[in-house]
Amino acid sequence: MALTYDDGPSDLTPGILDDLASRRAAATFFTMGEKSARYGDLLRRMVAEGHLVENHSWNHPHLPDIPLDEALRQIRDTTGAIEERTGERVTMFRPPYGEYTPEIVSGSGLPAILWDVDTFDWQGIDDDVLISRAVEQARPGSIVLQHDIQANTARTAEEVYDGLLDRGFSLVTVAQLFGGRVPTSGAWRSGR
Ligand code: ZN
Repeated sequence: MALTYDDGPSDLTPGILDDLASRRAAATFFTMGEKSARYGDLLRRMVAEGHLVENHSWNHPHLPDIPLDEALRQIRDTTGAIEERTGERVTMFRPPYGEYTPEIVSGSGLPAILWDVDTFDWQGIDDDVLISRAVEQARPGSIVLQHDIQANTARTAEEVYDGLLDRGFSLVTVAQLFGGRVPTSGAWRSGR
């Protein structure tokens, strides 16, 4: 299964990277283009430690609500900002709020990677609720959505990883979830 973190990087991200490294686990970070300059070192650390750095738009608009050319520029500029700093190709994007149109996906040239497990970590839920959602709702092939800007997600990361590892899951990137053959188009909620 694949853990994914949206909306970062942030000052909470290094702790999550430490926790992933201590368990030899990999994750996928859907980062925002406007944060690339400030957090370039963190983007490079993600890549160096075996994680994927992917595209979550420039500044998180509702993409279907803005003109198509602006939506596509949001995605294109973010890909450029990430690739400039990491030297790695961006191969997928996650539309903010999970909102997209067929024209946005086809125009982006990237697959839209959604999720099948949503922890709703941003709703200020209790830590034990967050842990149980992330650990117990996961299935083989699952893509779990969390945010590396949320204190509860950073605080509970170790317990979530240990709970998933105890259930026998391998914690892999989204690319690994697809056996290294990432779809080149379409919208995907899991690797099943
Ligand atoms: Zn987001």
